[in-house]
Amino acid sequence: SLRIGVLGGGQLGRMMALAGYPLGLSFSFFDKAADCPSAALGERFGDADYSDESLQAFIDSADVFTYEFENIPTRWVEAIAARKPVYPGVKSLAVSQNRLNEKRLFAELNIPSARYAEIRSEDDLRRAVSDLGLPLVVKTVTEGYDGKGQFLLRDAEQAAACWAALGASAPLIAEEFIQFKRELSIIAVRGQSGETKFYPLAENHHNHGILSHSIVPAPLLDENTQLTAERYISSILHELGHVGVLTLELFETRHGLLANETAPRVHNSGHWSIEGAHCSQFENHVRAVAGLPLGSTRAEKPSAMINIIGRHPASADVLRVTDAHLHLYGKTEREGRKLGHITVTADSYPELEMRISRLADALPNPMALHLSR
Ligand code: ATP
Ligand code: MG
Ligand code: MG
Repeated sequence: SLRIGVLGGGQLGRMMALAGYPLGLSFSFFDKAADCPSAALGERFGDADYSDESLQAFIDSADVFTYEFENIPTRWVEAIAARKPVYPGVKSLAVSQNRLNEKRLFAELNIPSARYAEIRSEDDLRRAVSDLGLPLVVKTVTEGYDGKGQFLLRDAEQAAACWAALGASAPLIAEEFIQFKRELSIIAVRGQSGETKFYPLAENHHNHGILSHSIVPAPLLDENTQLTAERYISSILHELGHVGVLTLELFETRHGLLANETAPRVHNSGHWSIEGAHCSQFENHVRAVAGLPLGSTRAEKPSAMINIIGRHPASADVLRVTDAHLHLYGKTEREGRKLGHITVTADSYPELEMRISRLADALPNPMALHLSR
């Protein structure tokens, strides 16, 4: 049977494997942590320093490869590509792991996004304040996730503090602060034949920089918004020659959609699709990587995804809520850590809201769910 090798052994790899086993696929993972969430679902490779020998042994172990995290060295993907197929390809990785590359791609494809400046010194920061105005969201160009490596610059006086906090990770990017109405994301999958399918837009709510919950399809959406998002992500998929799932995070503003960032992979805002869509993002990703036909991305009902962050709820408290499903990642509790998620569906949005607030009550950590809207 076909074996898929996954760079990274976090919850995303674990859920890929859970979707792939019924299709007769098997998995191996490249992750140095013996207790990583994917460890129970396949053979694990990767020693403490990710030596070349351990990478080559991983490449020996599988037929076709993918990754579940963009903050990995591109040379890993290049080393695989020299010997075996890897989807998405290195171009998708190189763009998505670097915010400047991402911004340049958006500009090339005429996809609107926040105005920005490249920052290499404290002086550049002051220049950005006068060119772009305040506030500014200053971010590291690489490595950031869950809002880490960011500084909200509210006035010019803070330039020194901002540089002290992030300067060691320069180059940085300073973006104008977008006064968005809400945050949305679109997830698409492209197969090896170029066949492309789109999931409905998700409405995403963050708490302290971490996704807290998503509602799908995003309520009160006009058809034009979905089609615009599909047009943007299509052009990205096509330009990258992307195979597999790709996510585009968006800001909905009074003047339409602005692109925030891409992820060359399955995405937290797509976890609802395990029960909420005919074919989940995980199954569609492994289908694409394995060269199989894609499944329907249709959602029959409104769905929500709620992240379990920091502390576990009592399972019974979650499962007592009608149509709720629990997904735990096998991680130990730690503040700010994604431990699992809950999917819930309903026949209407008001019913969905009611179920979300019952689930919020079941979570031990009230910070985990930020329900003020
Ligand atoms: P992720 O965990 O989604 O990969 P990340 O650390 O890569 O996050 P971003 O998605 O760029 O970082 O930013 C995190 C959050 O910060 C966004 O979801 C949004 O809420 C806010 N944010 C980012 N950029 C801007 C901006 N230019 N204007 C306003 N808010 C922003
Ligand atoms: Mg990101
Ligand atoms: Mg983001």
